[in-house]
Amino acid sequence: MMNRPIYLDYNATTPVDPRVLETMLPWFSEQFGNAASRTHLFGWEAAEAVENARRQVAQILGAQEKEIVFTSGATESNNLALLGSFEASPSKKHFITVQTEHKAILDVCQYLEKQGAEVTYLKPDAQGLITPQQVQETIREDTLLVSVMWANNETGVIQPIREIGQICRNAGVLFHTDATQAVGKLPIYVEADFIDLLSLSAHKLYGPKGAGALYVRRKTPLAIQMHGGGHERGRRSGTLNVPGIIGLGKACELSYQAFHTEIKRLADLRDYLERTILEFIPNVQVNGSVIHRLPHVSNLAFGAIDGEALLLNLTKIAVSNGSACTSASVHPSHVLKALGLSDELAHASVRFSLGRFTTAEEITLAIQYVTDTVATTRATFISLS
Ligand SMILES: *Cc1c(COP(=O)(O)O)cnc(C)c1O
Repeated sequence: MMNRPIYLDYNATTPVDPRVLETMLPWFSEQFGNAASRTHLFGWEAAEAVENARRQVAQILGAQEKEIVFTSGATESNNLALLGSFEASPSKKHFITVQTEHKAILDVCQYLEKQGAEVTYLKPDAQGLITPQQVQETIREDTLLVSVMWANNETGVIQPIREIGQICRNAGVLFHTDATQAVGKLPIYVEADFIDLLSLSAHKLYGPKGAGALYVRRKTPLAIQMHGGGHERGRRSGTLNVPGIIGLGKACELSYQAFHTEIKRLADLRDYLERTILEFIPNVQVNGSVIHRLPHVSNLAFGAIDGEALLLNLTKIAVSNGSACTSASVHPSHVLKALGLSDELAHASVRFSLGRFTTAEEITLAIQYVTDTVATTRATFISLS
């Protein structure tokens, strides 16, 4: 088999943990029941396993089981949260979000604007942070909902969620957070954090793709976005993805148990990677706050280099860079642009995101490899320019 690159792109997706896979497998075949079948053992077993998964998801959030709605992932959860709120409260039309949100928020906001909503996009500072005061000052009489991502997928920057939540609750404004990158990596207590709606996805925490959840605080008005059958207390119809949901539940349980040891191990590895690169490669900067940041992410901007050439040359590690491909062209990342980076530096930025199966040996190899590749790429860049 071909030597595969070292995987350092856990923020894009994670492999399914073998223990998660093992838990899921019977639910594809022997235990294939429809969780909505009330008349026989097949259905009862599936329904019971789904309720067990609901407990596991609720636990990692500090939520109640009945506040968990299973979805197909964070994109759907974000859509349900924002569109569902909009439709349920026709008298309020103003939304507040942040320029550095995921497309699964920004594109929904654009759609809302076409439906008559008004959206304020808060600008973060050069560290990628917004302040609770910014939110406070932007809230209006007709503000319906504030949506702030907990931790950024590109930079790992963590927003002051509890303080923002408190402001929203005091003002009677709904607070949604896309916590896809935070779940399993940060302590979350939806009650103490004043959260009304929270999105998460299984495949970012060692569960399967195509499964996720939306936490909906009790009594939060939310209009149905998927009609038919009345599954999930009427909030999201469709036959439940039983193996996916069970995988999500198990993934939450494992992350919850391993939380403290895993965070420490990843922070040590990430710091080793970042410290060594900054020490040995000149003209490199960290993108985003180094204090308010996820422990496993390092987003680095390499100066004096052709970013496209750098990424093309980095074939032995699997990483993301500061460019977003759309069908027609390559754009610099909107997140890095919002932090004030030039197009050139954004294109020459590399996101390293480590995870459960990353080893110290892999990091040592990656450091050596990045150091060499940056040096050779810079040499050609300079001779060309
Ligand atoms: C991956 C990701 C999403 C999309 O999640 P899916 O489950 O793939 O739809 C949304 N928001 C953030 C922050 C993400 O990292």
